[in-house]
Amino acid sequence: MTEPTHDEAHGQALGARLNWLRAAVLGANDGIVSTAGLVVGVAGATADRSTLLTAGLAGLLAGSMSMAAGEYVSVSTQRDTEKAALALERRELREQPEAELEELTELLEERGLTQEVAREAAEQLTERDALRAHARVELGIDPDDLTNPWHAAWASFLAFTVGALLPLLAIVLPPSDWRVPVTVVSVLAALTLTGWSSARLGAAGPGRAILRNVAGGALAMAVTYAAGWLLGAAGV
Ligand SMILES: [Zn+2]
Repeated sequence: MTEPTHDEAHGQALGARLNWLRAAVLGANDGIVSTAGLVVGVAGATADRSTLLTAGLAGLLAGSMSMAAGEYVSVSTQRDTEKAALALERRELREQPEAELEELTELLEERGLTQEVAREAAEQLTERDALRAHARVELGIDPDDLTNPWHAAWASFLAFTVGALLPLLAIVLPPSDWRVPVTVVSVLAALTLTGWSSARLGAAGPGRAILRNVAGGALAMAVTYAAGWLLGAAGV
């Protein structure tokens, strides 16, 4: 409790890094499951390698671009919200500086400073860069470091692609009898790893997370394989 603002600043930086890592693991997980379901489903219907490659590659590109576009839209919206909050803050600082100084003092007191120190700190922060101080302490954002929607979109695209490459390679590289078993085993192993990672990043026990993750992937492959096999057997 001696330096709450110090701890919190570090906590926020760490939290932001963990969020990126978690998003990367989830994106890779998505790429693994959806592409595995796709290629195993097609493998249920056909043994033709170029068909498998085409389907897997199309799935990889469609999925990664869809993830990137979704991320771009969501981060852009968040950025707009943050910019609007900053604009409002800027106006409040201009129109009612006294009330804003009071507000900053109270927020710093809530973080554990005594009234005098909080007042002194608020005055110094206001003098140096009032908007930045309010953005950080009140809104929890850094006005110079808003999340870039393009970075977020690229990160999602890459994470999904890395995940999707595993089932894609596992289905096209082995000889035809080995394709589905190799894909299933490597996908379940990869899902064990991503389940474990996301549990560790979320500070949760890994056992159940791994089980859920592996079960989800196994179900996806079983369902699409059955559907592909039925269509293939029916000669559709
Ligand atoms: Zn304010």
